[in-house]
Amino acid sequence: MERSGVFGLVILATEGVNGTVAGAEASISEIQDFIREVAGGVRFKDSISDVRPFKRVSVDVRAEIVGLKRPDLVPEKDDDHHLSAEEWHAWVTGANPPLVIDTRNDYELRTGKFRNAVDPGLKSFSDWGRYLDEAALPQEAPVLIYCTGGIRCEKAILEMRSRGFERVYQLRDGILGYLEKYPDGAFEGECFVFDDRVTVGPELTPTGNFGVCPGCGLPSDAKKSCLQCGNAFFLCAECEGTWPQACSKACRDRVLHRMRATAREAS
Ligand SMILES: [Zn+2]
Ligand SMILES: [Zn+2]
Repeated sequence: MERSGVFGLVILATEGVNGTVAGAEASISEIQDFIREVAGGVRFKDSISDVRPFKRVSVDVRAEIVGLKRPDLVPEKDDDHHLSAEEWHAWVTGANPPLVIDTRNDYELRTGKFRNAVDPGLKSFSDWGRYLDEAALPQEAPVLIYCTGGIRCEKAILEMRSRGFERVYQLRDGILGYLEKYPDGAFEGECFVFDDRVTVGPELTPTGNFGVCPGCGLPSDAKKSCLQCGNAFFLCAECEGTWPQACSKACRDRVLHRMRATAREAS
């Protein structure tokens, strides 16, 4: 990655390889060839960015690809519980749409989700098991689950099946794979992504409609202008009362300093 100017994060575990990386098209295909060579049947999902959305190169070796804290649950190689984008689309837009659950963390749903999807309110993925225990979902009816790129669901589905759910299906390649086929389908809003683009729209390109709130680091679509430097930024409703209209920690400190000075003059 360093040699070919590719940036991003790759996670290695005994159960597989997962990562998001960015670079020039030629460098990306070079990296893809390399990963195919060492890891075999890897699925790649492409999206476009004009700017480099990562600042670092990192490769982490972890016990699990996604932190379910259940390293004992290992995805099967030949699993038939995947739905293609076409099958998924037919189910969710059909006459009797089944229960659809979004397995992402709650803040990721702020920017968009599938129409009528249930938000289990997860703060982290390790809450998934507790949610299943408390929600008491019907086990006879089919349940559809999805996430950003289909990786988290590889684990989420195992957790469900270990609890007796037989008719649970996951969206292969996640929202990103679905949008590739159905940009105007059943996914509403924008898809949160874990890099500087924050979200991608239906065409899988960054829209600039969302930014990361400097107060909490979560996505927001409320655009403001920084009182210190004049730059545009996004401040979420939760932070509105506790964080001044400032785009960064440095600007916040200067704004607060000025506000205190003005208050002293006034008193
Ligand atoms: Zn905030
Ligand atoms: Zn500023």
